[in-house]
Amino acid sequence: MALDIHGDEERFRDSLATMTKEGKRNWIYPKKPSGSYYNARTVVSIVLLVFLFAIPFIKINGHPLLILNILERKFIIFGIPFGPHDFHLFGLAMISIIVSIFLFTVVYGRIFCGWICPQTIFLEMVFRKIEYFIEGDANKQRALNNSPMDKNKFFKKSSKHIIFFGLSFLISNIFLSYIIGMDKLLQIVTSPPSQHLGGLSAISIFSGIFYWVFSYFREQACTLVCPYGRLQGVMLDPNSIVIAYDNIRGEPRGKIRKNEVTNNGDCIDCHLCVDVCPTGIDIRNGTQLECVNCTACVDACDDVMVKVKRPKGLIRYASKNEIETGKRKLFTPRSIGYTIVLVILISLTSYLLITRSDVELSILRTPGLLYQEQPDGRISNLYDMKIVNKTFNSMPASLALTNIPGAEIKLIGNDLKVGPQEVREAKFFVIIPRNLANKLRTKLEIEVISNGKVLDVINTSFLGKVDKK
Ligand code: SF4
Ligand code: SF4
Repeated sequence: MALDIHGDEERFRDSLATMTKEGKRNWIYPKKPSGSYYNARTVVSIVLLVFLFAIPFIKINGHPLLILNILERKFIIFGIPFGPHDFHLFGLAMISIIVSIFLFTVVYGRIFCGWICPQTIFLEMVFRKIEYFIEGDANKQRALNNSPMDKNKFFKKSSKHIIFFGLSFLISNIFLSYIIGMDKLLQIVTSPPSQHLGGLSAISIFSGIFYWVFSYFREQACTLVCPYGRLQGVMLDPNSIVIAYDNIRGEPRGKIRKNEVTNNGDCIDCHLCVDVCPTGIDIRNGTQLECVNCTACVDACDDVMVKVKRPKGLIRYASKNEIETGKRKLFTPRSIGYTIVLVILISLTSYLLITRSDVELSILRTPGLLYQEQPDGRISNLYDMKIVNKTFNSMPASLALTNIPGAEIKLIGNDLKVGPQEVREAKFFVIIPRNLANKLRTKLEIEVISNGKVLDVINTSFLGKVDKK
């Protein structure tokens, strides 16, 4: 027997709408939504989908606009390359994103899930629309699923699943292009499969996963898997604006009967807000973890309110406190705290981005070595140099000593040329006339020059005080 830890009013929290008592999947057939919010979400989705599919094709100076290659730690953002050397920037950017998610959720609840999240957009605005088109609204879908296989059912089901798999294949290609770039993806697509077995396997696996998620797993991704969804309980507070049922106005709920005068509230208990819900919940029970703020119930209820000649907004964007007191409070100590932290993080990240140079240089005297005497009597020190070329271009580099006349820099090995996005390490000698090595530490200024331009001036020291011969 299940342990009853709630009162009657809270008992709905003991079960999942998408699961039967026996633990089996309870397939949700949401009624097709319609209304002003659904139309607005359709427009936003189209804009976001156009961006998603167009970005991999956009180039700046011949380089992709956006590449997020986590596996090889190569990133291009707005045409600027970032690599492992920019890890601190990524760390800060990630913390800023997390804080902004917290801030946004504290103030506006799960608005991201309903309007921006790719899972919701693909499921509700692409796959579900195709399903409604092929199989019809919720009742027709239910009837089709319960009917025996015949020509009509076979045609509808097979065409739906072929389209679903085709779309999943397209989506996995687009996501892969964000990782490896459109040029490489086109190479994989256009050359013989035997040459790109790894890439083709990745595309096939991801196509299969997307197909499974959008055709079968569906809302479970939001209610059972998504970590953001699971964190709602700690992020929301009574002032967060969520999709909420105005229980003060709506209760006690009751059907309208002709010529009957009642003291009921505005909810006519038509159940339409539940019928349209893609996660199968009853928002009249209060804010729930499963609610993805998709606004379908708002549209459904507004439609009902218009028909029964009552004001719209029985279900609306509102906070718990707003419904209880009639006052909306956006600025709470919690939201102000997050805002301050976020402003500091964004300022710091922006400063580091603005002052970020294309080249990173370090020159250090090789540790553990004293000076050396050259065959011609001059004195030398050995140095280690590291150059990080953050650009897309190959960078020839040379060194010049500016403050010691007669001194020489002798590179060990070939010319100093640093490839695009490459880290090059080199060793060189600084050789100075014997009579100038007259201090324990002699200050050195070394210019690093590339294509006639001084990239940086590095200050270091020359070690060695020797007797004149
Ligand atoms: S759609 Fe509105 S009126 Fe109908 S049950 Fe839901 S809250 Fe009540
Ligand atoms: S309760 Fe309303 S807003 Fe929340 S998921 Fe269901 S239909 Fe969407």
